[in-house]
Amino acid sequence: MASQPDTTRGESDETATVSAEPESALETARRQLYHAADHLDIDPSIVERLKHPKKVHEVTVPIKRDDGTVEVFSGYRAQHDSVRGPFKGGLRYHPDVTRDECVGLGMWMTWKCAVMNIPFGGAKGGIAIDPKDLSPAEKERLTRRFAQEIRDVIGPNQDIPAPDMGTDPQTMAWLMDAYSMQEGETIPGVVTGKPPVIGGSEGREEAPGRSVAIITQLVCEHYDRPLADTTVAIQGYGSVGANAARLLDEWGATVVAVSDVNGAMYDPAGIDTAAVPSHDEEPEAVTTYADEVISNDELLTLDVDVLIPAALGNVITAENAAAIAADFVVEGANGPTTSTADSILAERDIAVIPDILANAGGVTVSYFEWLQDINRRAWSLDRVNDELEAEMQAAWDAVRSEFERRDVTWRDAAYIVALSRIAEAHEARGLWP
Ligand code: GLU
Repeated sequence: MASQPDTTRGESDETATVSAEPESALETARRQLYHAADHLDIDPSIVERLKHPKKVHEVTVPIKRDDGTVEVFSGYRAQHDSVRGPFKGGLRYHPDVTRDECVGLGMWMTWKCAVMNIPFGGAKGGIAIDPKDLSPAEKERLTRRFAQEIRDVIGPNQDIPAPDMGTDPQTMAWLMDAYSMQEGETIPGVVTGKPPVIGGSEGREEAPGRSVAIITQLVCEHYDRPLADTTVAIQGYGSVGANAARLLDEWGATVVAVSDVNGAMYDPAGIDTAAVPSHDEEPEAVTTYADEVISNDELLTLDVDVLIPAALGNVITAENAAAIAADFVVEGANGPTTSTADSILAERDIAVIPDILANAGGVTVSYFEWLQDINRRAWSLDRVNDELEAEMQAAWDAVRSEFERRDVTWRDAAYIVALSRIAEAHEARGLWP
């Protein structure tokens, strides 16, 4: 398990019993599925189908390095479920990428799209590589070759990739270009998270952080905590962490700690978040702006109102869950809390707002981007942000109503909303042949 957070972006056990940590994204995703299914009267064969991906594509991606040598990497695209629409989800360039990780992260995308009620299924893919080892030209060659290898299984009506850890709008531009060149026509809807100049959406890059901030505000409202009296610690200062931090700061919260891979900046009086460069603005520079530096582990256990893990997965574990001192955890990263840690936090009455709701602004604005591409009509930033806010409020209302009605955790409530919608769609479509 990686314990050092990374601010780059951008994300088996068959039983519901607790096994030793660290656990894979697939194990966590399956446990969460069984847990939610326990609360619902759904056909067990549908749960059985949802345990498995529809298809997993594994490809070999050779690239010529700048020194002329050739190196070969493994690439994946796991397509989990498409009952509600085309597969949707990010592409991750990270050394820890594996087939199973892509399957687990792809499952989370299925639930994320369903909880937001957007007409997409779930997928995730990536290449097992450290993007920091690549020059921009090598990254371009890698991306174009990967696009070629997965060309038959992606497309605007089939499977639509987006940025994730280690990939960015430029990566999506290369992917879109390689795909379009082979198809003989420009097809912007094949990927989302592109630069706006080629059909990307205004507000897409900020969207996951914006949704984290919106959900934090709604949580505070729900528990009668004025934002002005709320302290926040954020792990990760990439696109998710920095945007969430700046919006919450702007809306009146006191952001007392932010971090990157080198450690955390801590100021109990409140950080001027605009003055601290995000990972995109100046990589890994947070601690150089700090008067007081603490470790990432210390950040996680600070006595704050809201803790936002917005870097890597599996950072809140059986080891540190008992020491978490925040009242609320809002998950900015995908899968930051292990299943064991989740149970410990639930016993301790710490509300954990799950990733599939909190950071779903990314895929929601991806959906807006896809609509703009299909209709060849760009939306203004105001329209994107207004519609995002309305979608987040609607998803929050649906989850809150299950939370209140069933007396479950916020995570279970979100899964119940998602799984009911997916199961209903499977019932309606049936099994054929
Ligand atoms: N990678 C992002 C996520 O995990 C966005 C996926 C998308 O926009 O398709 O939600």
